[in-house]
Amino acid sequence: MRGHASKAGLNDAIIFNTCAVTKEAERQARQAIRRARRENPQAKIIVTGCSAQIDPQKYAQMDEVDQIIGNDLKLKEESWKPDAKEEKILVNDIMAVKETAGHLINGFEDQSRAFLQVQNGCDHRCTFCIIPFGRGNSRSVPIGVIADQVRMLVEQGYNEIVFTGVDVTSFGPDLPGKPTLGQMIRRVLALVPELPRLRLSSLDPVEIDDDMWLLIAQEPRFMPHLHLSVQAGDDMILKRMKRRHLRDDVIDVCKRARDLRPDMAFGADIIAGFPTETEEMYRNSLRLVKECDLTYLHVFPYSERHGTPAARIPDQVPVPERKERASRLRALGEAQVDKLLHSMVGQDVEVLVEKGGVGRSENFIPVMLCEEYEVGSLVMVKATDAKEGKLQGEGI
Ligand code: SF4
Repeated sequence: MRGHASKAGLNDAIIFNTCAVTKEAERQARQAIRRARRENPQAKIIVTGCSAQIDPQKYAQMDEVDQIIGNDLKLKEESWKPDAKEEKILVNDIMAVKETAGHLINGFEDQSRAFLQVQNGCDHRCTFCIIPFGRGNSRSVPIGVIADQVRMLVEQGYNEIVFTGVDVTSFGPDLPGKPTLGQMIRRVLALVPELPRLRLSSLDPVEIDDDMWLLIAQEPRFMPHLHLSVQAGDDMILKRMKRRHLRDDVIDVCKRARDLRPDMAFGADIIAGFPTETEEMYRNSLRLVKECDLTYLHVFPYSERHGTPAARIPDQVPVPERKERASRLRALGEAQVDKLLHSMVGQDVEVLVEKGGVGRSENFIPVMLCEEYEVGSLVMVKATDAKEGKLQGEGI
């Protein structure tokens, strides 16, 4: 977007890439737009992203906003050209979009790792989720294109690349030969042997294919940290969410992955206070975190999204209750992180150096570095202590 905007002479425009996952995300977007207008009365303000795609009128009604560009069109050069500038709303039907091309990047400024979107959209319809209406149906980037991008990023000096997607385990069926996610990753690692570290941003627990298990078992360049889209630990709630897994599936996946790779760490997305969730059902989420030894939790209090089936369930959990459950889950997550950190004290860990004297281990543990290193480099340190949510690492 930055590239297209600057080519079109919009260097001073302010672009808001909005999120629609929760009401709170949308509230913050509107607040940030108003603040930006107060501080930059002359700047052109353009709003894009999922919230703008799903409900462009919401932003068109704001005097502060000059233009709304949808999620597909934002990645097309012509949307940013001078003759496109006159239309206030430039949003097409995201459900009709078939291609993924156009959004791959050529590096990130000031970052130690690069993110590469290998898949977009989602064919599932979890009852709480608005994302498919912002991103459209699932579509995958061809393997050759991914490998070229990875090679280019490695040549630019990136030692770690994160593959991202909306529903990344749905990678492949729309491509010739229907490769699975695991097959794609193995192929890319074979085509770019000089890439030291590859991660996945998140994973659906029931859709780990055989090649992915081989990667976990055999490929040291595939990082031992899986962020699982768990959402709940109670089977009835999982069914009402229309997820495709049950709590035992999560337990089995974690056990199998740890048996293959004992240093594996797990993160998880969990929703607190989904409609009809009782205290006992909620406790099943708490128990699952402990049973699977999940660490980095992304916890959201349930947020009704207009037009989703869950928002129409009459038995909604009161908002203060959702927040309170979320905060208990977060506290448990922090305790879990603390436990993991302490278990790693004394170990030698390889760290990818980030800005600000910190870095991340292979299993995504934050490490405070005692010496200065070049951002983006890989260094070996000894974990000497664990405090304030980080390991202390001394050079060896
Ligand atoms: S799989 Fe993920 S993106 Fe797709 S509908 Fe479910 S929660 Fe939303």
